[in-house]
Amino acid sequence: MIYDLHTHSHFSDGKLSVAQLLERAKQFQVDTISITDHDTLDAYENIESLNQTDIKIIPGLELSTYWKKIGIHIVGLNIDLKSTAMETLLRTQANIREQRAIKIISRLNSKYQLNIEYNVIKSNLVNGNIGRPHIAQYLVEHNIAKNYQHAFDKYLSNKKIGDCKFDWPAMSVIIEGIINAGGIAVLAHPLKYKLTRTKLLELFQEFKDCGGQAIEVLSGKQHASQTQALANIVNQLNLFASTGSDFHQANTPWAELGQFGSLPDDCKPVWDQFN
Ligand code: AMP
Ligand code: MN
Ligand code: MN
Ligand code: MN
Repeated sequence: MIYDLHTHSHFSDGKLSVAQLLERAKQFQVDTISITDHDTLDAYENIESLNQTDIKIIPGLELSTYWKKIGIHIVGLNIDLKSTAMETLLRTQANIREQRAIKIISRLNSKYQLNIEYNVIKSNLVNGNIGRPHIAQYLVEHNIAKNYQHAFDKYLSNKKIGDCKFDWPAMSVIIEGIINAGGIAVLAHPLKYKLTRTKLLELFQEFKDCGGQAIEVLSGKQHASQTQALANIVNQLNLFASTGSDFHQANTPWAELGQFGSLPDDCKPVWDQFN
């Protein structure tokens, strides 16, 4: 059984509509999917009208927070879509996204004497949910960056002028929001934070102390040795293990839907917790 519990649609920075995403997931033999857009549950608004019966859908999202000056992402799975606690948290996140985008753009405009227009970027979004990828795309389209990766490397990634992660609520607030919405908090793509083993353990422990229950032991294609090392820490801390591609678009074979292999046998799968 393939559980892809971390994917994106065009309601955040993914390229596919929900219908296209589900169709592609079926092509790649995914049995259970969660569409985990950044700080929004909009993907679930009309999902029932698609009448999907051959793929199981777990309502979820990916929330932005930080830990020790690093931007951290926490996936919430099995979320109650009617939760008012989550609705309140998402209103906060939407405000932060908007203010942050304005701040990033104004910093870039003044440092590099550019004329990036927030309203132009915003008006091209399906639901107004703006993120750095949309700014990156604008920089490419306006020949300010050579390509998407260059836009991140020069202007938007960690420690660059367009990185303002301090604006997000603390990890404890985010995890509490997920739990109050009946969900399970999963630490997303732990290897992306480029932490030493000691720091990673510290992050996992604090995540657990805040009520976090699972870690993405498999996040897209990764080395078996990395998977086993992660599984060992996760088992040692008695946490559940999750799996996901972090799919955003086609032509990214390292993050294709469902293509990440299986969890080591000694892991406790997070899906055993779904009711
Ligand atoms: P945001 O939600 O605005 O903080 O943007 C985060 C998203 O930008 C991530 O989910 C990735 O899709 C993308 N991203 C973040 N860092 C990088 C990077 N260094 N290179 C390429 N894409 C990135
Ligand atoms: Mn993304
Ligand atoms: Mn992420
Ligand atoms: Mn993601």
